[in-house]
Amino acid sequence: MSKEEFKRKALSQIEDDEVIKLLQDAVRIPSHKDLPDQEKEMAEFFASWFDKRGIEVELQRVEGPRQNVIARVRGEGDGSTLMYNSHLDTKPPYNMTIEPYDPVIKDGNLYGRGSVDAKAQLAAFASALLAVKRANIPLRGDLIFTGVVGEEWDSKGTSYIAKNGPKADMAVVGEPTKLEICIAHKGIVRATITTIGKAAHSSVPHLGINAISKMGKVIRAIEEELPKKLEGKSHPLLGKSTYSLGVINGGVQPSIVPDKCSLTVDLRVLPGIWIEDVKEYFEEILEKIKREDPEFKAELSMSSRQPPLDTSESHPIVQALKRSVNEIVGRMPKVTGAPFDTDASILANAGIPSVVCGAGDVRYAHAAVELVPVEEVIAAAKIFTLTAVEICC
Ligand SMILES: [Zn+2]
Repeated sequence: MSKEEFKRKALSQIEDDEVIKLLQDAVRIPSHKDLPDQEKEMAEFFASWFDKRGIEVELQRVEGPRQNVIARVRGEGDGSTLMYNSHLDTKPPYNMTIEPYDPVIKDGNLYGRGSVDAKAQLAAFASALLAVKRANIPLRGDLIFTGVVGEEWDSKGTSYIAKNGPKADMAVVGEPTKLEICIAHKGIVRATITTIGKAAHSSVPHLGINAISKMGKVIRAIEEELPKKLEGKSHPLLGKSTYSLGVINGGVQPSIVPDKCSLTVDLRVLPGIWIEDVKEYFEEILEKIKREDPEFKAELSMSSRQPPLDTSESHPIVQALKRSVNEIVGRMPKVTGAPFDTDASILANAGIPSVVCGAGDVRYAHAAVELVPVEEVIAAAKIFTLTAVEICC
């Protein structure tokens, strides 16, 4: 049989109703950080779903009751290993104006918390594994499903995988992209500057050094210098790096000259710019102030939330997804950059080239009315089935 025939065979195993039923069952199970066991029930649900269908599955303990679900259709040979990754957790249903855990279908949309972010993607990935398994296609590389904990909060699940495996040659991370293929996003770096002054009674301010007024100098310098430093580089899909003054704290009470003030700046940086670079930008800014004001004293500390993602458009996973989307929905998908960050960059930084693709529109994620178009979920299941055969076979 040719690869094309294997694709037909696998595709014929996708049952539309079965994909949607899986998604509905998943939406019925709450899985967020405010629950005592968080994603536990969701992980167990998927583990038993795979197990009942004869697909190899294990629960990977991340911490306490929190576990990733790892399912695998094994390949025999030296083919590429493909990972399908999405998250088990959702945002809590804080602001929802619909019943969060009643997955009704109306006018072609399926409603509920997690419907689009990201249980539609889990259901589509799981259905692709099942189709490949049922079609009994001889894979040369493994097809792996990873349902992970904590993406909405701290990305603990995918970070655990990046460190402890499973390994793969490439990955698709399931998030709502309307079936477009996202290959790049910015990273998040934070710089905290603390100005150090000298406390004194406010009636004799000349005896102290005011840390808040020193911070005023820092803010002016940042607004003047930082855009010049960030402007030099741009990315065809992402534009330029940006920054925002995020949090400021200083002073104890009005009658005391403050001896400390701190400011945290949030930067969204392009691929190629990372903590060391940003640290250098801020060191230069602080040194310049110091040259003009010998009394100026400040400390700088850096942290990061998520590295940038920048997968090449020519990577086989991008090409395979493009062909599959075109075949199922009859149009070439756009290759885009995302305005949001995802677990894909964690995998990419662990040496697993990754892209983001999935059903539904991200503006319904975390929304008061969360929904996903049923047709797009079924299309995603078919696209991921074709892509799996293309890559692993
Ligand atoms: Zn998500």
